[in-house]
Amino acid sequence: MIDEEEPVCSFCESGVKNDDDFCPNCGSIFADNVKCSKHQDADAAGICVICCEGYCNECGFALYGRVFLCSAHSELDIFEGMARVYGNNDFTQIALVKSSLEGEGLHPFIFSRKANPLHFPTSDYSVFRPSGKFDGNMIDEIKVMVPFQEVIEAEKIVSDLKSADENIL
Ligand SMILES: [Zn+2]
Ligand SMILES: [Zn+2]
Ligand SMILES: [Zn+2]
Repeated sequence: MIDEEEPVCSFCESGVKNDDDFCPNCGSIFADNVKCSKHQDADAAGICVICCEGYCNECGFALYGRVFLCSAHSELDIFEGMARVYGNNDFTQIALVKSSLEGEGLHPFIFSRKANPLHFPTSDYSVFRPSGKFDGNMIDEIKVMVPFQEVIEAEKIVSDLKSADENIL
């Protein structure tokens, strides 16, 4: 009974809903006629999984060939449907950021060599792109990740935290 199966994205094979216009996991477009949000005459090549806007091939790209991001969000560290919103080597600050995000109803996940050997037994930080940025994206930092759909809200909470508390770097 094939029509009772959960629909999956034909591109990344993650579960989707029947009325989804795009895959929230990879940004593949299911709807017809989606235009680039910057060029109304250009067809969108994908939907940025972070800001959920359509972009053409010049305004966005598929990271690893499978997760569509706009140029504004192309620098994010992403892994398995989540993106980094904060990183530090100090677990106290990590815990504070995590509890603040949870207090706002978000679902932060800590990615650390030490904290989560069960989830990440290989401790393989090569899954992250080397961003080349010195300010926090160090390869062995503890990362606070949130699901794609929570990134924009989480970034705002983190930036509010930073301005309210000078100890949060
Ligand atoms: Zn997909
Ligand atoms: Zn975006
Ligand atoms: Zn465009």
